Parts: sequence; structure tokens; C-alpha cells
Amino acid sequence: MKYDDQNIFAKILRGEIPCKKVYEDEYILSFYDINPQKKIHVLVIPKGKYVNLDDFSNNASSEEIVGLLKGINTVAKKLQISFDTGNGYRALSNIGEYGGQEVPHLHFHLFGGEKIGKMVE
Ligand code: 5GP
Repeated sequence: MKYDDQNIFAKILRGEIPCKKVYEDEYILSFYDINPQKKIHVLVIPKGKYVNLDDFSNNASSEEIVGLLKGINTVAKKLQISFDTGNGYRALSNIGEYGGQEVPHLHFHLFGGEKIGKMVE
């Protein structure tokens, strides 16, 4: 699975394109989606070069996998949408063509701040 270094999230990670940052640590960067679909819509991406969730599951280190999962929880807490700090949210990752993935760097969408509605439209 070849990673495209010119994808938009790679450019955001390198600081070549600005983003509205929510949180950053050793493993992840989180920022607001440029085209929000819900009241709160942020993206969480690993810092490593992974095309999608399957690439990540196959090739990331255990530390990176834990870092991403814990990072999602940290971001949800920071935005006060997590199960313990708010009313919940939806975490979603599109994978490949049929999954509707547009940017080829693994990302989770976090939708919250209101009822998210049907799982698939
Ligand atoms: P996908 O369809 O790949 O799951 O989602 C890609 C997401 O990235 C979309 O929700 C889109 O609005 C968002 N996006 C695309 N380009 C940019 C950008 O330059 N900055 C930010 N913050 N989000 C972007």
C-alpha cells in the first residue's frame, strides 16, 4: 500500500497547510474538519504514514495503535463529548473507494455536539 506524501493531511502534519488544532501529542494530531457535517466535527490522525485503518492495523506498532485509540478518547474528553464528560459521539473511519475515503491518510471523524442520527444514509 503506497503512501502519497503529497496528500493534504501529510501537508498539515508537516505544517505546510494550516489547521485549527484541537490536540496534539507524540502519536496523533486532531483538528477541526474544514467542512463540518455536524455541530462538532473533528478529525484525528496518526502521525505515522498510514493510508487507512487496514494499513495501520497491519503495519503500525503497538504503541502507535494504543496512542491513536487513547488519543481519540483524549480528544473526546477535551471537547466534552465523551461518554463520561458529555453525551457521546460517533467515531468513523472511511476505508478505500467503497468506504468513501477521500484523503489517503488514516483519519477518524469524531461527530458530536448533537444527535448524530442514522448510521448509514
Ligand atoms: P474522508 O472522506 O476521506 O473520510 O474525509 C476527508 C475529510 O477531510 C472531509 O470531511 C473533508 O472535509 C476534510 N478535509 C479535506 N481537506 C481538508 C483540509 O485541508 N483541512 C481540513 N481541516 N479538513 C479537510
